[in-house]
Amino acid sequence: MEVTRCDLLIVGTGAGTMTAALRASKAGLKVLMVEKEDMFGGASARSGGGIWIPNSYHAARHGGQDSADKAMTYFRDQTGDRFNEANVRAFIANGPEMLNFIEETSSLRFQVAMGYGDYHCEAPGGETSRVLFPDVWDGAELGKDIERLRPVLRRGRFMGMQVGILEVGLYITAARKPESILYVLKNLIKRTRDQVRAGRTLRLVGGNALVAALAAAAFRNGTELWTSAPARSLIRDGDRVIGAIVDRPQGPVRVEASDGVILATGGFPHDSRRRAASFPARADVAETWSTYPYGNAGDGIRMGEDVGAVFDADMACPVALTPVTRLEAGEGVLETSPIFFFRGAPGVISVTRRGKRFVNEARSYHDWGVGLLAATAGEPEAVAWIICDHRAIRRYGLGIIKPAPFPLRGYIKSGYLKTGATVRELADNAGIDADALERTVTAFNEPARRGEDPAFHRGSTVYEMVNGDPEHRPNPCVGPLDTGPFYAIRVTAGCIGTFAGIKANAHAQVIDAAGQAITGLYVAGNDMASITGGDYIAGGCTLGPAMTFGYIAAGHMISQRPGAAG
Ligand SMILES: Cc1cc2nc3c(=O)[nH]c(=O)nc-3n(C[C@H](O)[C@H](O)[C@H](O)COP(=O)(O)OP(=O)(O)OC[C@H]3O[C@@H](n4cnc5c(N)ncnc54)[C@H](O)[C@@H]3O)c2cc1C
Repeated sequence: MEVTRCDLLIVGTGAGTMTAALRASKAGLKVLMVEKEDMFGGASARSGGGIWIPNSYHAARHGGQDSADKAMTYFRDQTGDRFNEANVRAFIANGPEMLNFIEETSSLRFQVAMGYGDYHCEAPGGETSRVLFPDVWDGAELGKDIERLRPVLRRGRFMGMQVGILEVGLYITAARKPESILYVLKNLIKRTRDQVRAGRTLRLVGGNALVAALAAAAFRNGTELWTSAPARSLIRDGDRVIGAIVDRPQGPVRVEASDGVILATGGFPHDSRRRAASFPARADVAETWSTYPYGNAGDGIRMGEDVGAVFDADMACPVALTPVTRLEAGEGVLETSPIFFFRGAPGVISVTRRGKRFVNEARSYHDWGVGLLAATAGEPEAVAWIICDHRAIRRYGLGIIKPAPFPLRGYIKSGYLKTGATVRELADNAGIDADALERTVTAFNEPARRGEDPAFHRGSTVYEMVNGDPEHRPNPCVGPLDTGPFYAIRVTAGCIGTFAGIKANAHAQVIDAAGQAITGLYVAGNDMASITGGDYIAGGCTLGPAMTFGYIAAGHMISQRPGAAG
């Protein structure tokens, strides 16, 4: 078998390992990254790119009032019995430094989304200055490697342009606000120029910007990347992990890594066996339930277990949930799209098949999913309908449907969008209990006219407000459904990641059943048991820890090198 030698072998190419690669290669280590698929970047590249880093210097510069103690308080409150003090402390201490390191060693810049609350920002220690997004990044810097970069989801684009989370409001209001249409037109001109120049968009945002910029910097510092090269198993020498067997199109390669191996294959969204074992509530769902690339199939966790790693499924919820809709996108193709926006906008509610609301719709996508699973426990499928009136669908869109002036007809014809002149007719067409839905809408509408939601108190936190319509008064999240016709889309609780994963210590070293570090083996990203204890506690709370523990893992390896400063 062919043999290759490096200092650090990285399995998986998400934002966490790109950060590790950058730090290690910058310090002079010979870094090899291997990626199972023919594109690199994984779910990180298709993500919104929101990064949760408490107590950052960036936030402090914008007047943020955060502190390490305050962040610890939030963690302690949110994770309860699962609070992992050492690892949380390491995350909070290293996150701000990690951001600075990236800005010093790459062309990537971050901006704080000030006012964007933690998902439970009303809880002790909650804050509104911890989420950062990458700035728009010029993909030309990546050169030819851009052809290997995983694209964003189709529904995350508009006319070929990538749309960042902080830009959504501008795109949604483009038909009625001059400043918005100017913004979109400017991007469209740039998009057209890019098409002529490079045959694709080069204006990268969100997760695409994040991964591409980190990759460009890592490659510049000597990191090598093999795509279509899944790692199959780890190699041990005694108790120490010294590399992995990697399958390449031309045959298997024995990769020996003198300093260590980082596992970061993106959790187990598409490992149906592990999902059934650790998350029986959704053991039987179709593979289309997840918004993740199909390569994320639990390989890293399995390889880790083979050498003594411990899979930690003790999570509040082992899987991160989000509402997803499915559309037949052509012969034999089912397209799964997450619904991140406007669930909690005025004139929009979610109900079960029984016609009842089950959650405060303006809370996070994960809270929405947890609410639906509880409301449909014992039923064969966790199905809900997101319902709205005509005014709401034309103003905000619904699911993958864009707002006015884009037509609704095609979606109605395909069956994706159900409609009815009255709430009762809508219920009949969608297969919802009509009496119950009428009662629900009537009960919602009367207080909604005053901006009140006595059942679930929608619009009562800073984070919920962000999910609403800032122009709607008195409550950005609450308004009646009273302008027919009415509409509904069918939604299920899908997967936006996995929380359960391999146990690690505060250096990101994989630990065995006795709590001892397995020498030479590190873990980052969703292969690592989440420090959130299995709750989506803030936007960016998977990428922030992934990048920070990638940074920590590389730093630990560097510190173990002969002659390293103690
Ligand atoms: C639409 C969407 C939006 C999101 N938005 C956000 C957000 O704004 N903020 C946030 O924090 N999180 C967000 N997430 C979640 C976030 O993207 C993931 O939690 C994160 O990317 C996981 O990083 P990772 O490194 O663990 O996995 P990935 O980024 O998926 O990388 C893992 C890589 O490993 C590869 N791999 C798998 N097996 C092998 C093998 N055997 N050998 C080699 N390579 C292998 C995979 O192909 C993949 O490329 C979003 C997710 C989606 C789908």
